Amino acid sequence: MLTDNLGRRFYYLRLSVTDACNFRCSYCLPNGYQPTDDSPHLTAADAATVVRAFASLGTQKVRLTGGEPSLRADLPEMIAASKETPGIRRVAVTSNGYKLPKVIDSWHQAGLDQLNISIDTLQRAEFAEFTGHDCLPRVLDGIERARDLGVTVKVNAVLLADGAERRLGEFLHWLRTTPVTLRFIELMRTGDNRNYFASNHLRGATIEEQLLRDGWQLLPRAQDAGPAREYQHPDYRGRIGLITPYSKDFCASCNRLRVSAQGRLHLCLFADQGQDLYQTIRSGDSDALAHQVRELIGGKAPSHLLQQEQVGATRNLAMLGG
Ligand code: SAM
Ligand code: SF4
Repeated sequence: MLTDNLGRRFYYLRLSVTDACNFRCSYCLPNGYQPTDDSPHLTAADAATVVRAFASLGTQKVRLTGGEPSLRADLPEMIAASKETPGIRRVAVTSNGYKLPKVIDSWHQAGLDQLNISIDTLQRAEFAEFTGHDCLPRVLDGIERARDLGVTVKVNAVLLADGAERRLGEFLHWLRTTPVTLRFIELMRTGDNRNYFASNHLRGATIEEQLLRDGWQLLPRAQDAGPAREYQHPDYRGRIGLITPYSKDFCASCNRLRVSAQGRLHLCLFADQGQDLYQTIRSGDSDALAHQVRELIGGKAPSHLLQQEQVGATRNLAMLGG
Protein backbone atom coordinates (compact mmCIF):
# COMPACT_ATOMS: atom_id res chain seq x y z
CA MET A 1 0.00 0.00 0.00
CA LEU A 2 1.31 3.43 -0.95
CA THR A 3 1.99 5.25 2.33
CA ASP A 4 3.72 8.58 2.96
CA ASN A 5 6.07 9.60 5.77
CA LEU A 6 3.12 10.51 8.00
CA GLY A 7 1.45 7.12 7.52
CA ARG A 8 -1.24 8.50 5.21
CA ARG A 9 -2.50 5.90 2.72
CA PHE A 10 -3.66 6.75 -0.77
CA TYR A 11 -6.83 4.92 -1.67
CA TYR A 12 -8.07 7.55 -4.03
CA LEU A 13 -6.76 8.91 -7.37
CA ARG A 14 -8.07 12.08 -8.99
CA LEU A 15 -7.13 11.98 -12.63
CA SER A 16 -7.69 15.11 -14.66
CA VAL A 17 -8.50 14.36 -18.29
CA THR A 18 -8.42 17.95 -19.59
CA ASP A 19 -7.74 21.42 -18.23
CA ALA A 20 -10.21 22.97 -20.69
CA CYS A 21 -13.70 24.03 -19.66
CA ASN A 22 -16.75 25.55 -21.35
CA PHE A 23 -17.98 27.32 -18.16
CA ARG A 24 -16.83 30.59 -16.63
CA CYS A 25 -17.42 29.99 -12.94
CA SER A 26 -16.76 33.24 -11.13
CA TYR A 27 -14.22 31.75 -8.68
CA CYS A 28 -12.48 29.45 -11.17
CA LEU A 29 -12.33 30.71 -14.78
CA PRO A 30 -14.17 34.08 -14.68
CA ASN A 31 -12.82 34.99 -18.13
CA GLY A 32 -13.31 31.52 -19.58
CA TYR A 33 -10.65 28.96 -20.38
CA GLN A 34 -7.38 30.44 -21.64
CA PRO A 35 -4.90 27.76 -22.70
CA THR A 36 -1.55 28.36 -21.01
CA ASP A 37 0.07 24.95 -21.31
CA ASP A 38 0.45 23.37 -24.72
CA SER A 39 1.90 20.08 -23.42
CA PRO A 40 0.00 17.12 -24.89
CA HIS A 41 -2.87 15.60 -22.92
CA LEU A 42 -2.92 11.98 -21.86
CA THR A 43 -4.75 9.64 -24.24
CA ALA A 44 -7.33 7.13 -23.03
CA ALA A 45 -4.63 4.43 -23.18
CA ASP A 46 -2.33 6.65 -21.06
CA ALA A 47 -5.11 7.17 -18.53
CA ALA A 48 -5.51 3.39 -18.31
CA THR A 49 -1.76 3.05 -17.59
CA VAL A 50 -2.03 5.61 -14.78
CA VAL A 51 -4.99 3.79 -13.24
CA ARG A 52 -3.23 0.40 -13.47
CA ALA A 53 -0.15 1.82 -11.73
CA PHE A 54 -2.15 3.37 -8.90
CA ALA A 55 -4.31 0.25 -8.50
CA SER A 56 -1.12 -1.79 -8.06
CA LEU A 57 -0.22 0.61 -5.22
CA GLY A 58 -3.53 0.05 -3.43
CA THR A 59 -5.76 2.73 -4.95
CA GLN A 60 -9.41 1.64 -4.90
CA LYS A 61 -11.27 4.66 -6.20
CA VAL A 62 -10.70 6.78 -9.31
CA ARG A 63 -12.28 10.14 -10.03
CA LEU A 64 -12.05 11.49 -13.57
CA THR A 65 -12.17 15.25 -13.46
CA GLY A 66 -10.92 18.37 -15.22
CA GLY A 67 -11.44 21.17 -16.47
CA GLU A 68 -14.61 19.69 -17.82
CA PRO A 69 -14.22 15.94 -18.45
CA SER A 70 -17.32 15.74 -20.66
CA LEU A 71 -15.39 17.74 -23.27
CA ARG A 72 -13.49 14.51 -23.96
CA ALA A 73 -15.44 12.33 -26.39
CA ASP A 74 -13.43 9.32 -25.19
CA LEU A 75 -14.51 9.72 -21.54
CA PRO A 76 -16.67 6.53 -21.66
CA GLU A 77 -13.57 4.63 -22.76
CA MET A 78 -11.64 6.01 -19.79
CA ILE A 79 -14.47 5.15 -17.38
CA ALA A 80 -14.62 1.59 -18.75
CA ALA A 81 -10.84 1.06 -18.57
CA SER A 82 -10.75 2.36 -14.98
CA LYS A 83 -13.67 0.17 -13.97
CA GLU A 84 -12.08 -2.92 -15.52
CA THR A 85 -8.77 -2.40 -13.70
CA PRO A 86 -8.27 -5.07 -11.00
CA GLY A 87 -8.40 -3.44 -7.57
CA ILE A 88 -10.52 -0.44 -8.60
CA ARG A 89 -13.85 -0.63 -6.80
CA ARG A 90 -15.42 2.71 -7.65
CA VAL A 91 -15.22 5.06 -10.61
CA ALA A 92 -16.51 8.60 -10.27
CA VAL A 93 -16.73 11.63 -12.55
CA THR A 94 -16.95 15.29 -11.54
CA SER A 95 -18.69 17.43 -14.15
CA ASN A 96 -20.49 20.73 -14.59
CA GLY A 97 -23.41 18.74 -16.05
CA TYR A 98 -23.68 20.82 -19.23
CA LYS A 99 -24.01 17.72 -21.44
CA LEU A 100 -25.41 15.38 -18.81
CA PRO A 101 -28.75 14.23 -20.32
CA LYS A 102 -26.94 13.39 -23.57
CA VAL A 103 -23.99 11.53 -22.09
CA ILE A 104 -25.12 9.93 -18.84
CA ASP A 105 -26.38 6.71 -20.44
CA SER A 106 -23.01 6.08 -22.09
CA TRP A 107 -21.14 6.84 -18.84
CA HIS A 108 -23.42 4.47 -16.96
CA GLN A 109 -22.94 1.73 -19.56
CA ALA A 110 -19.19 2.20 -19.25
CA GLY A 111 -19.43 1.41 -15.53
CA LEU A 112 -19.75 4.76 -13.74
CA ASP A 113 -20.55 4.33 -10.03
CA GLN A 114 -20.68 7.91 -8.81
CA LEU A 115 -21.30 11.29 -10.34
CA ASN A 116 -20.50 14.67 -8.78
CA ILE A 117 -22.24 17.59 -10.42
CA SER A 118 -21.43 21.17 -9.52
CA ILE A 119 -24.43 23.40 -8.84
CA ASP A 120 -23.78 26.49 -6.75
CA THR A 121 -27.36 27.75 -6.81
CA LEU A 122 -30.84 26.38 -7.55
CA GLN A 123 -31.98 29.68 -9.06
CA ARG A 124 -31.83 29.51 -12.82
CA ALA A 125 -30.84 33.16 -13.42
CA GLU A 126 -28.18 33.08 -10.71
CA PHE A 127 -26.80 29.82 -12.15
CA ALA A 128 -26.49 31.52 -15.55
CA GLU A 129 -24.78 34.49 -13.92
CA PHE A 130 -22.32 32.27 -11.98
CA THR A 131 -21.38 29.99 -14.89
CA GLY A 132 -22.10 31.92 -18.10
CA HIS A 133 -24.64 29.24 -19.19
CA ASP A 134 -28.42 29.25 -18.72
CA CYS A 135 -28.72 25.47 -18.46
CA LEU A 136 -29.75 24.65 -14.87
CA PRO A 137 -32.95 22.77 -15.93
CA ARG A 138 -30.89 20.57 -18.25
CA VAL A 139 -28.34 19.81 -15.51
CA LEU A 140 -31.17 18.87 -13.12
CA ASP A 141 -32.76 16.63 -15.80
CA GLY A 142 -29.41 14.90 -16.21
CA ILE A 143 -29.22 14.29 -12.45
CA GLU A 144 -32.70 12.71 -12.52
CA ARG A 145 -31.63 10.41 -15.33
CA ALA A 146 -28.43 9.44 -13.48
CA ARG A 147 -30.46 8.57 -10.38
CA ASP A 148 -32.93 6.53 -12.48
CA LEU A 149 -29.97 4.57 -13.80
CA GLY A 150 -28.81 3.83 -10.26
CA VAL A 151 -25.72 6.07 -10.31
CA THR A 152 -24.94 7.63 -6.92
CA VAL A 153 -25.23 11.40 -7.33
CA LYS A 154 -23.50 14.04 -5.26
CA VAL A 155 -23.88 17.74 -5.89
CA ASN A 156 -20.99 20.12 -5.20
CA ALA A 157 -21.86 23.67 -4.19
CA VAL A 158 -19.14 26.20 -3.43
CA LEU A 159 -20.04 28.35 -0.42
CA LEU A 160 -20.14 32.00 -1.42
CA ALA A 161 -20.77 34.64 1.23
CA ASP A 162 -23.18 36.94 -0.59
CA GLY A 163 -26.65 35.30 -0.56
CA ALA A 164 -25.42 32.19 1.29
CA GLU A 165 -28.36 32.03 3.70
CA ARG A 166 -30.96 32.23 0.93
CA ARG A 167 -29.18 29.58 -1.15
CA LEU A 168 -28.86 27.29 1.89
CA GLY A 169 -32.64 27.57 2.46
CA GLU A 170 -33.30 26.67 -1.18
CA PHE A 171 -30.94 23.71 -1.08
CA LEU A 172 -32.48 22.43 2.18
CA HIS A 173 -35.96 22.64 0.65
CA TRP A 174 -34.72 20.57 -2.31
CA LEU A 175 -33.05 17.96 -0.08
CA ARG A 176 -36.29 17.25 1.80
CA THR A 177 -37.50 15.25 -1.20
CA THR A 178 -34.38 14.65 -3.30
CA PRO A 179 -32.10 11.72 -2.31
CA VAL A 180 -28.75 13.20 -3.29
CA THR A 181 -25.78 14.25 -1.17
CA LEU A 182 -25.10 17.96 -1.38
CA ARG A 183 -21.54 18.88 -0.48
CA PHE A 184 -20.77 22.44 0.44
CA ILE A 185 -17.17 23.28 -0.47
CA GLU A 186 -15.49 26.16 1.27
CA LEU A 187 -14.13 28.56 -1.34
CA MET A 188 -10.36 28.11 -1.74
CA ARG A 189 -7.93 30.84 -2.57
CA THR A 190 -6.00 30.22 -5.81
CA GLY A 191 -3.40 32.23 -7.69
CA ASP A 192 -6.05 33.84 -9.91
CA ASN A 193 -8.92 34.54 -7.50
CA ARG A 194 -7.30 36.47 -4.63
CA ASN A 195 -9.67 39.45 -4.71
CA TYR A 196 -12.72 37.29 -5.33
CA PHE A 197 -11.72 35.09 -2.39
CA ALA A 198 -11.29 38.09 -0.10
CA SER A 199 -14.87 39.21 -0.66
CA ASN A 200 -16.60 35.82 -1.00
CA HIS A 201 -14.99 33.38 1.43
CA LEU A 202 -17.41 31.99 4.03
CA ARG A 203 -16.27 29.52 6.66
CA GLY A 204 -17.93 26.11 6.38
CA ALA A 205 -18.09 26.00 10.19
CA THR A 206 -20.88 28.61 10.08
CA ILE A 207 -23.10 26.22 8.10
CA GLU A 208 -22.03 23.20 10.14
CA GLU A 209 -23.02 24.86 13.41
CA GLN A 210 -26.46 25.61 11.98
CA LEU A 211 -26.91 22.01 10.77
CA LEU A 212 -26.02 20.64 14.21
CA ARG A 213 -28.49 23.04 15.86
CA ASP A 214 -31.17 21.82 13.41
CA GLY A 215 -30.65 18.13 14.30
CA TRP A 216 -28.37 16.93 11.47
CA GLN A 217 -26.20 13.98 12.53
CA LEU A 218 -22.62 13.22 11.47
CA LEU A 219 -22.08 9.92 9.60
CA PRO A 220 -18.96 7.69 9.84
CA ARG A 221 -16.34 8.16 7.09
CA ALA A 222 -15.41 5.39 4.59
CA GLN A 223 -11.75 4.50 3.92
CA ASP A 224 -11.80 5.71 0.31
CA ALA A 225 -14.12 8.64 1.01
CA GLY A 226 -13.29 12.16 -0.09
CA PRO A 227 -12.66 14.97 2.35
CA ALA A 228 -16.32 15.69 3.19
CA ARG A 229 -17.91 15.26 6.61
CA GLU A 230 -21.41 13.99 5.81
CA TYR A 231 -24.61 14.61 7.77
CA GLN A 232 -28.09 13.13 7.64
CA HIS A 233 -31.45 14.14 9.11
CA PRO A 234 -34.56 11.96 9.51
CA ASP A 235 -36.80 14.58 7.82
CA TYR A 236 -34.66 14.82 4.69
CA ARG A 237 -34.15 12.31 1.87
CA GLY A 238 -30.89 14.01 0.89
CA ARG A 239 -27.67 14.35 2.88
CA ILE A 240 -25.28 17.24 3.39
CA GLY A 241 -21.48 17.13 3.27
CA LEU A 242 -19.04 19.83 4.34
CA ILE A 243 -15.58 20.24 2.81
CA THR A 244 -13.62 22.69 4.88
CA PRO A 245 -10.01 22.91 3.67
CA TYR A 246 -9.24 25.76 6.08
CA SER A 247 -10.16 23.72 9.14
CA LYS A 248 -7.46 22.49 11.52
CA ASP A 249 -6.10 19.01 10.65
CA PHE A 250 -7.86 18.92 7.26
CA CYS A 251 -4.73 17.38 5.68
CA ALA A 252 -4.23 14.74 8.40
CA SER A 253 -6.79 12.46 6.77
CA CYS A 254 -5.63 13.09 3.18
CA ASN A 255 -6.03 9.85 1.21
CA ARG A 256 -5.80 11.15 -2.37
CA LEU A 257 -3.26 11.99 -5.04
CA ARG A 258 -3.74 13.84 -8.29
CA VAL A 259 -2.46 13.41 -11.81
CA SER A 260 -2.93 16.27 -14.25
CA ALA A 261 -4.14 15.93 -17.84
CA GLN A 262 -0.51 16.49 -18.88
CA GLY A 263 0.67 13.54 -16.79
CA ARG A 264 2.10 15.37 -13.77
CA LEU A 265 1.76 13.94 -10.30
CA HIS A 266 0.54 16.53 -7.79
CA LEU A 267 1.14 15.35 -4.25
CA CYS A 268 -1.19 18.11 -3.02
CA LEU A 269 -3.78 20.31 -4.74
CA PHE A 270 -1.66 23.27 -3.65
CA ALA A 271 1.81 21.81 -4.32
CA ASP A 272 4.50 24.09 -5.71
CA GLN A 273 4.80 21.94 -8.80
CA GLY A 274 3.72 18.70 -10.39
CA GLN A 275 6.22 15.88 -10.94
CA ASP A 276 6.46 15.06 -14.62
CA LEU A 277 5.51 11.42 -15.27
CA TYR A 278 4.54 11.90 -18.91
CA GLN A 279 7.30 9.83 -20.54
CA THR A 280 6.81 6.88 -18.21
CA ILE A 281 3.05 7.02 -18.70
CA ARG A 282 3.51 7.09 -22.50
CA SER A 283 5.71 4.01 -22.34
CA GLY A 284 2.68 2.08 -21.04
CA ASP A 285 4.83 0.48 -18.33
CA SER A 286 2.59 0.68 -15.28
CA ASP A 287 5.15 -1.12 -13.07
CA ALA A 288 7.78 1.54 -13.83
CA LEU A 289 5.19 4.23 -13.18
CA ALA A 290 4.19 2.70 -9.85
CA HIS A 291 7.86 2.58 -8.88
CA GLN A 292 8.27 6.27 -9.75
CA VAL A 293 5.21 7.24 -7.70
CA ARG A 294 6.52 5.25 -4.74
CA GLU A 295 9.83 7.13 -4.96
CA LEU A 296 8.08 10.50 -5.07
CA ILE A 297 5.57 10.00 -2.26
CA GLY A 298 8.12 10.88 0.42
CA GLY A 299 7.98 14.47 -0.89
CA LYS A 300 4.34 14.91 0.12
CA ALA A 301 4.08 17.86 2.50
CA PRO A 302 2.25 17.41 5.82
CA SER A 303 -0.25 20.13 4.94
CA HIS A 304 -1.17 22.78 2.42
CA LEU A 305 -0.33 26.34 3.41
CA LEU A 306 -3.65 27.95 2.50
CA GLN A 307 -3.97 29.50 5.94
CA GLN A 308 -0.67 31.30 5.26
CA GLU A 309 -2.13 32.47 1.92
CA GLN A 310 0.24 30.24 -0.07
CA VAL A 311 -1.43 28.44 -2.96
CA GLY A 312 1.57 26.82 -4.65
CA ALA A 313 1.40 26.61 -8.44
CA THR A 314 -2.41 26.46 -8.48
CA ARG A 315 -3.78 29.37 -10.51
CA ASN A 316 -7.27 27.87 -10.63
CA LEU A 317 -8.76 24.47 -9.86
CA ALA A 318 -9.61 23.80 -13.54
CA MET A 319 -5.88 23.09 -13.95
CA LEU A 320 -6.15 20.01 -11.80
CA GLY A 321 -9.76 19.19 -10.97
CA GLY A 322 -10.21 20.26 -7.36
N1 SAM B 1 -15.66 21.21 -14.26
C1 SAM B 1 -16.02 20.23 -13.32
C2 SAM B 1 -16.96 20.81 -12.26
O1 SAM B 1 -17.06 22.01 -12.14
O2 SAM B 1 -17.57 20.00 -11.57
C3 SAM B 1 -14.84 19.55 -12.63
C4 SAM B 1 -13.67 20.40 -12.25
S1 SAM B 1 -13.99 21.61 -10.99
C5 SAM B 1 -12.43 22.37 -10.82
C6 SAM B 1 -14.15 20.59 -9.53
C7 SAM B 1 -14.84 21.24 -8.36
O3 SAM B 1 -14.00 22.27 -7.86
C8 SAM B 1 -16.17 21.89 -8.67
O4 SAM B 1 -17.15 21.41 -7.79
C9 SAM B 1 -15.92 23.35 -8.44
O5 SAM B 1 -17.06 24.02 -7.97
C10 SAM B 1 -14.81 23.32 -7.42
N2 SAM B 1 -14.00 24.53 -7.38
C11 SAM B 1 -13.43 25.19 -8.41
N3 SAM B 1 -12.72 26.24 -7.97
C12 SAM B 1 -12.86 26.27 -6.63
C13 SAM B 1 -12.35 27.11 -5.59
N4 SAM B 1 -11.55 28.13 -5.83
N5 SAM B 1 -12.67 26.81 -4.31
C14 SAM B 1 -13.47 25.74 -4.03
N6 SAM B 1 -13.96 24.91 -4.97
C15 SAM B 1 -13.67 25.17 -6.25
FE1 SF4 C 1 -15.21 24.83 -15.33
FE2 SF4 C 1 -15.55 23.36 -13.16
FE3 SF4 C 1 -13.96 25.57 -13.13
FE4 SF4 C 1 -16.60 25.86 -13.34
S1 SF4 C 1 -15.50 24.96 -11.59
S2 SF4 C 1 -15.05 26.92 -14.58
S3 SF4 C 1 -17.18 24.12 -14.53
S4 SF4 C 1 -13.60 23.70 -14.24
